[in-house]
Amino acid sequence: MFLPTTNKELNALGWTQLDVILFSGDAYVDHPSFGTAVIARILEAEGLKVAVVPQPNWRDDLRDFKKLGKPRLFFGVSAGCMDSMVNRYTANKRLRSDDAYTPEGRAGYRPDRATHVYCQILKDIYPDTPIIIGGIEASLRRFTHYDYWDDCIHPSILSDSKADLLITGMGEKPLQTLVRRLLNGESFDSIKDIPQTAYLSDPQDIEIELASHEVCLKSKKSQAENFKIFEEQSNLYCQTSRIGQRIGDKMVIANPSYPHLTTEELDSIYDLPYTRLPHPRYKGKTIPAYEMIKYSVTIHRGCFGGCSFCTISAHQGKFISSRSEQSILKEVEKITQDANFKGYVSDLGGPSANMYNIHGKDITICQKCKRPSCLHPHICNNLQTNHERLINLYRKASKIDGIKKICIGSGIRYDLATIDYLEEVVKHHVSGRLKVAPEHTNEAVLNLMRKPSFKFFETFDKEFERINKESGLRQQLIPYFISSHPGCTAEQMAELASKTKRMHFQLEQVQDFTPTPMTLSTEMYYTGLNPYTLEKVYTAKTLALKLEQRSFFFWYKPEERAAIIRKLKQMNRNDLIQALYGNK
Ligand code: SF4
Repeated sequence: MFLPTTNKELNALGWTQLDVILFSGDAYVDHPSFGTAVIARILEAEGLKVAVVPQPNWRDDLRDFKKLGKPRLFFGVSAGCMDSMVNRYTANKRLRSDDAYTPEGRAGYRPDRATHVYCQILKDIYPDTPIIIGGIEASLRRFTHYDYWDDCIHPSILSDSKADLLITGMGEKPLQTLVRRLLNGESFDSIKDIPQTAYLSDPQDIEIELASHEVCLKSKKSQAENFKIFEEQSNLYCQTSRIGQRIGDKMVIANPSYPHLTTEELDSIYDLPYTRLPHPRYKGKTIPAYEMIKYSVTIHRGCFGGCSFCTISAHQGKFISSRSEQSILKEVEKITQDANFKGYVSDLGGPSANMYNIHGKDITICQKCKRPSCLHPHICNNLQTNHERLINLYRKASKIDGIKKICIGSGIRYDLATIDYLEEVVKHHVSGRLKVAPEHTNEAVLNLMRKPSFKFFETFDKEFERINKESGLRQQLIPYFISSHPGCTAEQMAELASKTKRMHFQLEQVQDFTPTPMTLSTEMYYTGLNPYTLEKVYTAKTLALKLEQRSFFFWYKPEERAAIIRKLKQMNRNDLIQALYGNK
């Protein structure tokens, strides 16, 4: 049922040699929300013998790396569902005490920069066996990028990890193609043309050449310009150009991506025989990330929101691939057969809950489009925003025997949502609290974040209240906000406090901006420039400035009050003192 993780399990299957061994920074959970499980099932479906080594110990005699021997085709390495540095450190660079992707949520089961560490160990032991890297950590470090934890720019992960090939984005299709060609007798080293792969090569003539790593080390402007080129290319409907970047006497070459997956292709991935369970080696232990998603179903991939701080469109693509209704409903039925299932599906969603089956009206216009977002600065006229199929899907899933409620846990794009969709969700699919992400209240900051105007949130809040009232419900709206995003000042945070107070929110879901590799926000943070305009952008970077911004979220806490009043006096904003604390 599960793919083997030990020699004992290998022997029980009667296997003597493996074709592929996958190493992952996460625990092995055979659920389609976990990338390693998906890749393992894809390779298995190609007829390969595959094993998974989850969270190998990199500090002992390295037995986890040696125990299954050498695979016939290649090693696959991934840091896991998250970048290992984001997983291990807080926004203030403090080591986290927990890890949601590890049994019992324990920290310390993966190294910093897990992709590098695993690759280097494997290359030392098996220098002749190819290594393919993939997953979010590898994919978003494909070119020179800013690394927040070292506070400097790093070269492509291909140049210092010793990996032979990098699969960018969602890896199923490039891996299938690669495996089929290897099984047809082509040698690993000769395969350089598969879409969505990147590799290190001797310099060559290339369609798009970025400023070299060495130039970027000296010039923040070049780094910013590189990002714009990279993002525009990533967002094209049909990518045709290879992108190259020199580093020393070598060149990183990234092939263009495959077009977004068709419904049939996406269905075939989610219809694979996942057990939807953690591997039995974790018996009796709880994996927090699994507990959160075990009864959730992914209905689509991709996001056309293009939020500046988000990696989804760079990783999954801007265009939406949606599963068929039949495939989704089959998965919901499968969930109802779980003996522990109590009737509540925690999510039918994707990167944004309500982008299912949404696409351009005239695809020929999309094919020429370079916009990084279909929603910002305004909703594109060519976007078809009908939510009918999604509403029908929720209704059909709700009628399946054994289902008490289908909840929507993914974030809703309220600027895109239609009234009939909101009515459906608020009346039938909220489990008490609905999370949404306005992220800020200031229009200039929202613009840099590529988020909609705060007016949309104010309208949404009113509609949410109205629908609740009319339906006799008392559900709560939970808005998410970010402080210290590039372009945000302490004064704008004070205004955020006053605006959200006026709307009767006491904020809890808040975070400091964390610059993760290869997002627009990160490039603004590092370069101090907006890559699209090359205008200067201010960012609060020191711990003191970041804490100051954060403190405004908690204006209502008695311990914050004196300092906030002092700061507002310094800003000459007695109006905000009045707004937050009245005459008291
Ligand atoms: S034309 Fe409009 S809908 Fe199509 S990709 Fe561009 S912004 Fe999106």
